[in-house]
Amino acid sequence: MKISGILFDKDGTLLDFARSWEPVNRRCAHYAADGDGAMAARLMRACGMDPDTGETSGDSLFAASSTGEVAAGMIEAGSRRALADLIHHFDLFFLEGAAHAVPLADLRGIFLALKARGLKLGIASSDNEASIRRMAEGQHILPLLDYIAGYDSGHGVKPNPGMIEGFARECGLEPAEIAMVGDNAHDMHMARNARAGLAVAVLTGTGGMATLAPFADHVVDSIEGLESLLDRLADTPVA
Ligand SMILES: [Mg+2]
Repeated sequence: MKISGILFDKDGTLLDFARSWEPVNRRCAHYAADGDGAMAARLMRACGMDPDTGETSGDSLFAASSTGEVAAGMIEAGSRRALADLIHHFDLFFLEGAAHAVPLADLRGIFLALKARGLKLGIASSDNEASIRRMAEGQHILPLLDYIAGYDSGHGVKPNPGMIEGFARECGLEPAEIAMVGDNAHDMHMARNARAGLAVAVLTGTGGMATLAPFADHVVDSIEGLESLLDRLADTPVA
């Protein structure tokens, strides 16, 4: 198998989810609750976050969904603000938060090493595209990226195959040459739906071994294990 491109999920894969987004998710809930503390706590729970500990469960709205899905979930859970109002403000809060995003590893070092192997690199996230760009700029990896897809980039949302198909199209690759790397089950499902060559799960995010292993071809501790995985795969004769 020849892998020519790697598409990364962002939160929990490149960025420390809790340290980067817990304060922003809290801000979203308080905005949606219009200052009502009890309602804000209820909205956080509805989106998968324990308001006391800040812990967020895998595959929950906060962990895995786009702005619109989080906003709709909060309205369903009691927010009286309008959907468009919530989406507009959540996008702003995430854009502001992107500047303070906390990486899980030396992203520039890892991306430079992968580029040196001739790989095309991209990011596919349920966040908005401007926020992904700002994060990439802050981490000094923007010039190393061949492709960026947010929920608003016109490729649809996970787990539909569009973000991977867009990466393939824009970089002249076959989906079978693409490895999808992510921390949630919907990243693995997107890889399957697009017939990507590899679905690689990382354990640095909100997903765990039990929820990821059934859907992943490989599970690595973090993106720091990617290069050695690629080396191992290159050495394995095709059966
Ligand atoms: Mg993620």
